[in-house]
Amino acid sequence: MTPGEDEVPILTSEISRLGVVGAGTMGAGIAQVAAVAGYAVVLCDVAAEAVERAFGRIAAGLERAVVRERLTSAARDEALGRIRTTTDLGDLRDAQFVIEAAPEELGLKRELFAALAGLCAPETILASNTSSLLITRLASDIAHPERVIGMHFFNPVPVRPLVEVISGARTSPEVTEATVALAERLGKTAVRALDTPGFIVNRVARPFTGEALRMASEGIATPAQIDRIVRTAGFSIGPFEMMDLVGNDVNFAVHQAIYEQTFGEPRYRPQRLQAQMIASGRLGQKTGQGFYRYAEGQKVADETPEPYAEIGPLGRAATVLIAGHGPQVDDLGLALKAAGQE
Ligand code: NAD
Repeated sequence: MTPGEDEVPILTSEISRLGVVGAGTMGAGIAQVAAVAGYAVVLCDVAAEAVERAFGRIAAGLERAVVRERLTSAARDEALGRIRTTTDLGDLRDAQFVIEAAPEELGLKRELFAALAGLCAPETILASNTSSLLITRLASDIAHPERVIGMHFFNPVPVRPLVEVISGARTSPEVTEATVALAERLGKTAVRALDTPGFIVNRVARPFTGEALRMASEGIATPAQIDRIVRTAGFSIGPFEMMDLVGNDVNFAVHQAIYEQTFGEPRYRPQRLQAQMIASGRLGQKTGQGFYRYAEGQKVADETPEPYAEIGPLGRAATVLIAGHGPQVDDLGLALKAAGQE
């Protein structure tokens, strides 16, 4: 789309001040990579303890990079010096590029975008790290919707190279180019995705986690068994480990949003087990317990902590016959034996 007369040109080459809204799992990671890349970052959250925790996590992450000799201690200190934390959204008024990483709730994000549009200069680019919500919808009733875009990072941000860049129906080509350029300056690989529910990666991830949840709920195997078998098949992470890493609350919200935005497509239907995990506070790594237990970010127990009502009992059949051979079959045999199955 060609910018109309009332649209404001974007000065892409001059972006040096970034705002990040939401200092949770993603906001902290985004602030970290931006500060290391030389940007001045204002990191904002409604909760004072969230910004404090985020700053602590960033400092610890940079310290690990120093220990691994990927960063000098001077570069670490400079990066930390570029991050300012706040609980006042008004402190983002001078940002030239804002990345929103607040919870995956349409109403909340729309409110934030309206507030940011009123606060920041008309040429400030407003990007959302949403995993599943339509960018066109986030931009629908704010001033200058041509500067609203999706910039979807992956978890953990300092490690994962991919960024999906999603243009909404009214996003200007200049804003898309500036966002791709920013992603590259942050050392990421940018891919352009269409503004459809879940974009590319989350569309693929839904059946991965959804089917695994269904299998656990039906008592076919426990989360630990499914993860182990999936990893044996060559995946670097199992579906339950991934949900614990993402956060079961975040994953559930993404599931719901994709299900609703595809008008109830059965493949994307959320599972009761997810709601149960959230109700019991088992959000994953961030609360120290999800499908596994964690201490200082490390898994401490390989088995699902305790039986869930939603996970049916194994061993309904007297004997399980495994047809075939190979490492996966061996692993399945061991897993079934460990679960007391003949
Ligand atoms: P999180 O729950 O870890 O963090 C969200 C933060 O936003 C919290 O600290 C909360 O206090 C803060 N917040 C709530 N309301 C706010 C407001 N009005 N203003 C400012 N801050 C506010 O969530 P997260 O995992 O970092 O996810 C954030 C976004 O990133 C979501 O849209 C999610 O879909 C997306 N995302 C998450 C992952 C992941 O693996 N967790 C990956 C890619 C994208």
